[in-house]
Amino acid sequence: MFDLDSFSLKGKVAFVTGASYGIGFAIASAFAKAGATIVFNDIKQELVDKGLASYKEIGIDAHGYVCDVTDEEAVNKVVKQIEEKVGIIDILVNNAGIIKRIPMLEMTASDFRQVIDVDLNAPFIVSKAVIPSMIKKGHGKIINICSMMSELGRETVSAYAAAKGGLKMLTRNICSEYGAYNIQCNGIGPGYIATPQTAPLREKQADGSRHPFDSFILAKTPAERWGEAADLMGPAVFLASDASNFVNGHILYVDGGILAYI
Ligand code: NDP
Repeated sequence: MFDLDSFSLKGKVAFVTGASYGIGFAIASAFAKAGATIVFNDIKQELVDKGLASYKEIGIDAHGYVCDVTDEEAVNKVVKQIEEKVGIIDILVNNAGIIKRIPMLEMTASDFRQVIDVDLNAPFIVSKAVIPSMIKKGHGKIINICSMMSELGRETVSAYAAAKGGLKMLTRNICSEYGAYNIQCNGIGPGYIATPQTAPLREKQADGSRHPFDSFILAKTPAERWGEAADLMGPAVFLASDASNFVNGHILYVDGGILAYI
């Protein structure tokens, strides 16, 4: 029997990484609206403070932690603190991410490693920290924020595409390895979303014309617009909720149709 309550996150603890602003903030806000208790982290204290104030402004009493998601020891410590102070994490969203737009031949191995570290190694580290308690509790939801670049390559994003492609496969692997423990691990692949990360691509040129990439996106996206962080809210709540309990190992592309058209 279908029940709309299966979309509710009441009583759930959700940990969203890198969620002081942008996509993570939007997803965490949607989770709060669906009834979850929100925990987030960011890499700097000033970002956490900014995030806490932004959540408060919209009536959400969030818990914020400073933690670099690439630092395994720090992640383990924070997850332990969350479990003690807030509760076992029911929903993890691996959202923190970086991009470096550099042509491959100009990219240093150190730049490449840094992107892989944040966008691929960190979701492994954070997932590894939360899964044992999810197993004990008998359920868990992990959502990895992937990208269209989990499927495509483009000029200047070799490291990002390698990391997000890897994250798609980590998603499938967590599903295969821990699905039997009632843990669902899925990904969301946002299309081009208007956030600070993509702001340089929307800047007007010196002559007032659109950035060539901006024109490309508007021409190639059937929706004929950039996505908004809010476009990810419904899909994220679905994947975090009991409504998706038999959905495992998938990437849900939220891209205005661009992957179907490009
Ligand atoms: P933002 O850069 O706006 O936000 C990411 C957050 O993660 C920032 O607060 C950032 O802090 C934080 N962060 C970065 N590194 C670390 C770290 N080592 N430890 C903890 N926190 C860290 O990104 P978006 O909101 O645009 O994107 C969120 C996710 O969505 C990312 O994984 C991104 O790759 C993905 N995505 C975004 C798309 C888009 O169009 N915007 C498209 C497809 C995927 P700081 O500000 O200091 O860097």
